[in-house]
Amino acid sequence: STDRKWNFGAGPAMIPRPVLERAQQEFLNYNNSGLSLMELSHRSNTFEDLNNKTQNQLRQLLKIPSQYKIIFMQGGGHTQFAAVVYNLLAWRHHQNKQQGSGSGRWQDIPVDYVVTGSWSSKATEEAKRLGANVRVVCDAKPHFGSYKGIPAESTWTTSDPQGSLRTADHQAGQTPAYLYYCDNETVNGVEFPFIPSLQDPAVPLVCDMSSNILSRPVDISKFGVIYAGAQKNIGPAGVTVVIVREDLLQTSELTDGLSPVPLMLDFKTMVKNNSLYNTPPMFAIYISSLVFDWLLDPVAQRVQDGPQQPTNKDLVGVEAAVARNERKAAKLYKALEESRFCRIIVTDTAARSKMNIPFSISKAPKNDPNAFPNKAEDDAMEAAFVAQAEAKGLLQLAGHRSVGGVRASIYNAMPEEGVDVLIAFIKEFEQQYF
Ligand code: PMP
Repeated sequence: STDRKWNFGAGPAMIPRPVLERAQQEFLNYNNSGLSLMELSHRSNTFEDLNNKTQNQLRQLLKIPSQYKIIFMQGGGHTQFAAVVYNLLAWRHHQNKQQGSGSGRWQDIPVDYVVTGSWSSKATEEAKRLGANVRVVCDAKPHFGSYKGIPAESTWTTSDPQGSLRTADHQAGQTPAYLYYCDNETVNGVEFPFIPSLQDPAVPLVCDMSSNILSRPVDISKFGVIYAGAQKNIGPAGVTVVIVREDLLQTSELTDGLSPVPLMLDFKTMVKNNSLYNTPPMFAIYISSLVFDWLLDPVAQRVQDGPQQPTNKDLVGVEAAVARNERKAAKLYKALEESRFCRIIVTDTAARSKMNIPFSISKAPKNDPNAFPNKAEDDAMEAAFVAQAEAKGLLQLAGHRSVGGVRASIYNAMPEEGVDVLIAFIKEFEQQYF
């Protein structure tokens, strides 16, 4: 219908309409309890069942092997920037102690970061703030001039005069606690088309999948820790999913001037208590479980695909989502490429995100290298684009405040029809100017 609004915001993002409707139906009386879900005890059987169900759904959707634990935490992605530092330093500290190697000092254990955009950059800054021995093994910014791609793994090196950080023969006690990267940089629109190949299998891979979890299949067994804030592809803000390999929970008490892991950030405490150490964000977990129900429901997935789409009727979950996401992203990139005024920011085509698509707007002829953009004119055109889009129900298309421009976020819950409406608008807008 014409009054339908499309939310292209990067997060909080769209939640599937059927999920919102079901939540509304169940709002006052959850599961015949006579209470709303928010009023139930988090220790009640009703909530515990929901907690377990939500975990199992995620395990099914992502094919999470049994040696991985799933926890629901609070504090969003930013809290995980710190949590991974504490937990994995405590784990590596324990490993070093067992092997009788390393000084035992927190500050001596290296942690390796791949920086491909503003979120991995912020994670790096947090690790430094906590006093960790941060080594940036790859920085895409100098490589591309700005965050516009992912440098080939062969270029990932070190400022360390000893040579490559990514060799298997780390000096005793110098094995990094982890290698960190962000799978999809929400602000910059850069997404990994590969999983980094660890040269040293003793180094766990830590990945921020906040903005692309459940958008495509992923081989969980390659990772030590995966985390994701819910407010893009999972549900409402307030819950953060953490998937952690069981052996990484073996930590020893930190002594010798080292900080302990704060309890609320401690993966081991959360696992031991099945995420119910303290009062969890019950409503956010509940809505997440409805989103998982929606993903796993073949009828709901057919509806999301729309009547036009001749998809495989048996597809559900991530397999249904990835097919749709690829179609949506491909047609939007194509429309941007064909447009006379839209310029895709990410130049490394293999690394173009299927979730967040930033672009800029300019009247200068696209294919003329000597054309000189008129910034004032282009800024006015960009403002008009965002405003006119909004009037047509295409909401939140302004880019992140740190980079400006335009950004279309097209997560799982954005139907293909929403992308079609945006593409039609881009064509219509162009006619006013050219
Ligand atoms: N990582 C990524 C990839 C993100 O997109 C975001 C938020 N947009 C964050 C981390 C930070 O998440 P939060 O706002 O939940 O702290």
